[in-house]
Amino acid sequence: MGSSPSDSSHTFLERVSSELGCAPTSQDVAVYLDKRDPLQHLRKQFLVPRVGDLPPTDLSLVDGTEDCIYFVGNSLGLQPKSAGKYIDEDMDKWAKMGIHGHRAGKRPWAYAENNIEDLMANVVGAKAEEVALMNGLTVNLHLLLLSFYRPTAERHKILIEDKAFPSDYYAVESQIRMRGFDPQQSLLLMKPRAGEETLRTEDILATIEREGESIAVVLFSGVQYYTGQVFNMAAITAAGQNKGCFVGFDCAHAVGNVELRLHDWGVDFACWCSYKYLNSGAGGLAGAFIHEKHTHTVKSTLWGWWGHDLKTRFHMDNVMDLLPGVGGYRLSNQPFLLVCPLQASLEIFSQTSMQALRQKSKLLTGYLEYLLKHYYTQDEARPDKPYVRIITPSDPEERGCQLSLSFSVPVDTIFNELEKRGVACDMREPNVLRIAPAPLYNSFSDVHRFVNLLGSALGSRQRPHTECVTENQPADKHPPGGPPFTVTDGASFHVPLL
Ligand SMILES: *Cc1c(COP(=O)(O)O)cnc(C)c1O
Repeated sequence: MGSSPSDSSHTFLERVSSELGCAPTSQDVAVYLDKRDPLQHLRKQFLVPRVGDLPPTDLSLVDGTEDCIYFVGNSLGLQPKSAGKYIDEDMDKWAKMGIHGHRAGKRPWAYAENNIEDLMANVVGAKAEEVALMNGLTVNLHLLLLSFYRPTAERHKILIEDKAFPSDYYAVESQIRMRGFDPQQSLLLMKPRAGEETLRTEDILATIEREGESIAVVLFSGVQYYTGQVFNMAAITAAGQNKGCFVGFDCAHAVGNVELRLHDWGVDFACWCSYKYLNSGAGGLAGAFIHEKHTHTVKSTLWGWWGHDLKTRFHMDNVMDLLPGVGGYRLSNQPFLLVCPLQASLEIFSQTSMQALRQKSKLLTGYLEYLLKHYYTQDEARPDKPYVRIITPSDPEERGCQLSLSFSVPVDTIFNELEKRGVACDMREPNVLRIAPAPLYNSFSDVHRFVNLLGSALGSRQRPHTECVTENQPADKHPPGGPPFTVTDGASFHVPLL
């Protein structure tokens, strides 16, 4: 098979297990990695649902009192423990002070969202002035396209990835129509090569090079929701701008998952929701980014009072003093109930860095990949053995935490069997399970348990084993003192995790 870039975490796991004196598939490896995970304390700041509380659980199969295996933070992140506390505080403030809550308390409502924009900016690699928290993702995408999509007879196309998230597709399609163009001519879909599942950067760049003069906006996701592929945002931005296009990203699946440098990459605009890896609760307050280079050249087409400079916003003189940059895109006052959980989550992010989360994430997902390949690689000699194909790129730089799996057996059965066993993950048509170990709260033991449960869900006779170190040799005792392990793949992937 040759070596793939993900071999570095695999080599690392094999080294750990040989130091521990057990197989790489042993549960001891998971326990060992969890004990040395410098981010393990972050999980304690979240409410992890119990197996018995998940509606599909079958208590004849599993212990209902255990934490569930929550691998669906790519769809809806877990609740930070402080979210409820902040909401209670604000409800209490409302009860006690009424309108005075706008100016008083920990989160004065008149500018509550402004107080967390610097935390948000850190997560996306932006300056606080480049970020606004408002609305939902799709609303923000529309607002941004109103400014950045300026079709002309020569330059009227929007380039997006084929099978983009439906809401993005609809937003783009309707924007094209609204400007009097025809999606048949103006919507350019970037498709993978025949027989391939993900896009090659070289092909994306070649398309931009070839079609660039007719493209008004290049709009990709940062991380593709279905395949889990991370797009090379820096290269796409440079290529698009080189051709005179505006380049934007939907970072819904990238934010809180991979390192973003929206400012340094010179991305023109971006948007994201906050209820996936950012854990703000369903329908949470979404984000928008406009690069500071556009501060004085781009302004919102639609105005509302919240886009007015705060200093004079409440003078109510109907003379617009529009905030420069993305601030001027605000329309309405923000719902304080949505600021609370987002603040709770961003405060947890601020206890670490995206770099540290990414380091853990590469190993965590590499571990999942390792175990899946170990147990579920196709075996020509045993045609009845179920196998798993990983659609997500094997290069850790080209993926975030999510692996998208397709199976040799019907996926809905496996999904149902996993759900009965207390695994929260998701199934996407036509035949993919998306498994997302979030580095903020998932553990190596979650991954190990998951692969075990997958074995029983598949009814596989080849059940993964869990133990190989004898009981009088607890895993954390070896090797003495803990080894100076690092994982390296050439220059970039260096994990001083242990
Ligand atoms: C989750 C997601 C959305 C959802 O949009 P909302 O407006 O927040 O409902 C849109 N686009 C992408 C790429 C997503 O992943």
